Amino acid sequence: MPLSSSDTGSSPPSDPNVPVPPALCLRCGSGRRLGLARCEACGHSPTDDLDRAAHLLAMDLSDDEREGLMARVAAGERFEPDPQELEDTVAALRQATPLAVGAFALVVGGLPLLLAVLVLTALAWALLPL
Ligand SMILES: [Zn+2]
Repeated sequence: MPLSSSDTGSSPPSDPNVPVPPALCLRCGSGRRLGLARCEACGHSPTDDLDRAAHLLAMDLSDDEREGLMARVAAGERFEPDPQELEDTVAALRQATPLAVGAFALVVGGLPLLLAVLVLTALAWALLPL
């Protein structure tokens, strides 16, 4: 599909008709559009934090680097990202889990509610005719 007339990348890939996909599967090396989607080629979907972080880091590579990585993974090599970057990405992923978001919402939204209930209970208690 020759639809990339507006796409003028700084460093064109080896075949200009085949743009480098924005993400890849780190298990089989096939390209895809979404970093954490299920691989259509091998069925692999990154589920643990380390695997997901590595897939996200692979998306941050330049087109040339990613193209080279795809070839290396397809040849059986492993993606070895910078350990510090990997650690940071894992930490960011863990902070963004639904559980953490839920706990945050509970603390922020639940505490005032709890206080209101306590105050109302105290008021009701104080108004009781003894
Ligand atoms: Zn795959």
